[in-house]
Amino acid sequence: MAELSVGKEVLSHCSKCKLILAHIIVTMKDTKLADKVQCKTCKATHTFKDPSATKAKTSVDKVIKSAKAKSRTGSRKSTETVAELWTKAIGKNTTGTKSYTIKGSFIMGDIIDHPTFGQGVVEKLIDNNKIEVLFQDDYRTLMHKK
Ligand SMILES: [Zn+2]
Repeated sequence: MAELSVGKEVLSHCSKCKLILAHIIVTMKDTKLADKVQCKTCKATHTFKDPSATKAKTSVDKVIKSAKAKSRTGSRKSTETVAELWTKAIGKNTTGTKSYTIKGSFIMGDIIDHPTFGQGVVEKLIDNNKIEVLFQDDYRTLMHKK
């Protein structure tokens, strides 16, 4: 690494220009670390900011932010979709609801009334004795024909 000293040029992140630019070292912290630097572009004097450290931090922040944004939209979207599907399916109900019991027998399109989960729509028949039911908050697999 080249020796740094007052008057020499160093790359620093400029807080005014918001860019990594050539700066002139004004004062040194120790023999290897610049303290105050002057931006060659805007002539402002400020504390030396290691451009590699600044860059790394920014990219990590960005990754965390985008991951958070993604999971937020993702979960919100899927909840809305289930609720929307449920509202639509329940709205189409013309035949009334069947009380859900494990002994009952249900077919696709049946609207069931579950003591815990409320109203749900039978979306799928699984194996011989299971149904996949769309409830307002989520899909659940229930037993029937027991
Ligand atoms: Zn500047």
